[in-house]
Amino acid sequence: MTPIARKALLLGSGELGKEVAIELQRYGVEVIACDRYPGAPAMQIAHRSHVFNMLDGKALREIIELERPDHIIPEVEAIATETLRELEKEGYHVTPTARAAWLTMNREGIRRLAAEELGVKTSPYRFASDYEEFKKAVEEIGLPCVIKPIMSSSGHGQSVARKPEDIERSWAISQEGGRAGAGRVIVEGFVDFDYEITLLTVRSCSGTTYCEPIGHIQVDGDYRYSWQPQPMTDGALAKAQEIAKKVTDALGGYGIFGVELFVKGDDVIFSEVSPRPHDTGMVTMISQDLSEFGLHARALLGLPVPSIRFYGPSASRAVVVEGDTDKVEFDNLEEVLKEPGTQLRIFGKPEIKGHRRMGVILATDETVEAARDKAERAYNALKVNVLPR
Ligand code: AMP
Repeated sequence: MTPIARKALLLGSGELGKEVAIELQRYGVEVIACDRYPGAPAMQIAHRSHVFNMLDGKALREIIELERPDHIIPEVEAIATETLRELEKEGYHVTPTARAAWLTMNREGIRRLAAEELGVKTSPYRFASDYEEFKKAVEEIGLPCVIKPIMSSSGHGQSVARKPEDIERSWAISQEGGRAGAGRVIVEGFVDFDYEITLLTVRSCSGTTYCEPIGHIQVDGDYRYSWQPQPMTDGALAKAQEIAKKVTDALGGYGIFGVELFVKGDDVIFSEVSPRPHDTGMVTMISQDLSEFGLHARALLGLPVPSIRFYGPSASRAVVVEGDTDKVEFDNLEEVLKEPGTQLRIFGKPEIKGHRRMGVILATDETVEAARDKAERAYNALKVNVLPR
C-alpha cells in the first residue's frame, strides 16, 4: 500500500486465487482481486478488488492501466487473452506468459501445440463448428468418444457418446454447456486409462521441479477426490515428467502448471494443462511444505524453488453442494475434524445456483488408502444445510 509496493493483479478470485493471494501477501505483495461477481473468495482477503467481465478486452485494459500491476496472474481460463498478449508487448508481466494463457484458454490451441507441434501423444481428435462437421468428426473418431466445448471447464457441456443414439444428445449438451455459449467442440477418442494424474510442474529461476504425481477421480468432468502420491511405475513416471517438461517449456515463463495425463500401463497420454494451480492440487495444502499456491507465488515472483518437501500420503475430498441459495451452513465440524491429520477449507462463496464446489476436506495418513478413507469419513460427517433465499 505504498508507492513502491510490488503489486499483483489476480484475474479470477475463486478458491485457487484466494490461496495464491494469501501466499503473495506472505511476501508483502499488494494484491488486487478481480472477478465477474462481488464477494468472490479471493476478494474477501485481497487489498482491493474490481468486478467486471474479464472476457471484455476493453474493460480488462482499463483496470490494468488503472492499477499498473507488476504481475498479472490469470486464475481462470475465461479472460480476454488477446488483450493480455498486447499488454505483455507493452511491458506488463503475465504469469507464466500471455501466450500460455492464450493457448490454454481454449482446447484447440493447447491440443494442436502438444500433438501437432511438439509431437506429444494425445487421444485422437477432431474439431467441429456445426452439427454436420460434428457428425463427420464422430464418424472419423469412432465410438465411444468424448465431446467437449473447446471453451469450458469443470465438465460443463462435456459428455461421452457410446452408442449412435447418443450422438445428437452429446451435441445438444455441448451447445448448452460451453463457457461462451454455443460453438466449436472437440471430439476425442475415449481413452480407456488405468488412472489419470495431475503432474504439478514448477518452472522457476531454479529450473523445472515436479511434485509427486496426484491421482484423482472426476465425476461428470468435475474433480471429487484427489490423492498424492499416485503409485506409478518408474517408466510411466519418467514419461509423464518428459511430457510435462516438453509442454511447459513450450509455454514458458515462471509459475506452476497442472499437467493432466492419462496412464495405461507404461503408456502416458497428454490430456491438457493449466498454466496455474490446479483444483486437484489442493491436496498439496496438507501434503507439502510449499503448497501448489506457495510454489506458484514463489516462482512467479522470481524467487528460487530449490526443493519441495513432501510430507507423506494425503488426500482431498471436494465438498460440492447442490441447491439454489445464498445461505449455506456447515455443521457438525466437531466430528469432521475429530481425527488427527484432518483439515477443512471453506471457500466462502456467496451463493449456489445448481451445484458448486464450496469447500475441501484434506487428510493425511500412513498410506494413500488410509488418507482417502479418512477424508471420506470426515466428508460423511459433514452436514451441509442449504437454507432458503
Ligand atoms: P477435461 O475437462 O478435458 O480435463 O476432462 C475432464 C475429465 O473427463 C478428465 O479428467 C477425464 O476423467 C475425462 N476425460 C476427458 N477426456 C477424455 C478422453 N478422451 N477419454 C476418457 N476420458 C476423458
